Amino acid sequence: MTREKYFPARLVNRREVTRDLFVLHVKVEGQYTHLAGQYATLAVEVAGRRIERAYSICSSPYESVLEFFVERVPDGQLTPLLLAKDQGAPLLLRRFAKGRFTLDLRSGRRKHLLLCTVTGVAPYVSYVRTLYEDSKKGGGPMPGDHRLYCVHGASHGVEFGYREELEQIAAKAPWFSYVPTVSRPWEDQAWGGEIGRVDDLIRKYLHVWELHPGDTTAYLCGHPQMVGNGRGILERAGWKREAVQDEVYFQPPADTAQ
Ligand SMILES: Cc1cc2nc3c(=O)[nH]c(=O)nc-3n(C[C@H](O)[C@H](O)[C@H](O)COP(=O)(O)OP(=O)(O)OC[C@H]3O[C@@H](n4cnc5c(N)ncnc54)[C@H](O)[C@@H]3O)c2cc1C
Repeated sequence: MTREKYFPARLVNRREVTRDLFVLHVKVEGQYTHLAGQYATLAVEVAGRRIERAYSICSSPYESVLEFFVERVPDGQLTPLLLAKDQGAPLLLRRFAKGRFTLDLRSGRRKHLLLCTVTGVAPYVSYVRTLYEDSKKGGGPMPGDHRLYCVHGASHGVEFGYREELEQIAAKAPWFSYVPTVSRPWEDQAWGGEIGRVDDLIRKYLHVWELHPGDTTAYLCGHPQMVGNGRGILERAGWKREAVQDEVYFQPPADTAQ
């Protein structure tokens, strides 16, 4: 039963971003395929019980190792276990990647506004790595003149996880712009970049990048509050429901839900 639904996998590397944020590299023993923007389901077995959760895949479909950007939820069931695993530890991975949070190449809108909080950058890393790899080979599946614009929010500058990589790609690829923004700058004296929450910056960057409902698909990924607020702001600015895609990572406990 387990082998039918899951591939065996192994943790091959872990990069610590902060005490609570980790990049995991997982080698799957099986033919695993995914599209940029999809998620995988990782599972750990404890005392005969399987605990599994969804994680957006950061790696591009061209890479042989799957990469995930995971935040530890202190009282969570899976993340403390997952992040305590040593290199080489066995894991399970559901055999099929899932999700429709893929780049919209069909609507005719050629601009893509990618909004995210902390680990919510994961699917965008996969888009950008895939397109960058394609562009280096001189082609790829991206028809026409598409452009990607990303605003990535975190409380502090150390939490971005992929800032260096995304800034390097943005410096070389004219089709990609990346703005990390910190919401608690008073706790981060070293930060000299953009400040404010992602949802509070949407209107500013719509203006700066000249993004309009007719030419832009918007994507919201990560914290439910940012996703909810962001959708409201975009819809009030004229975006149709179907021109805004979202991926919500968790439901807030009932007493804090909006
Ligand atoms: C499609 C999809 C993709 C996802 N991709 C990622 C990803 O790339 N990286 C990632 O870290 N997580 C991702 N998640 C969230 C992930 O699936 C788990 O929910 C998360 O890791 C917590 O698991 P847990 O078992 O440790 O906590 P649980 O035991 O499931 O949660 C305990 C409580 O914590 C709350 N909670 C869960 N996550 C958070 C959080 N991040 N911050 C604050 N409170 C939280 C829940 O509301 C719950 O009440 C994704 C979720 C979905 C649906």
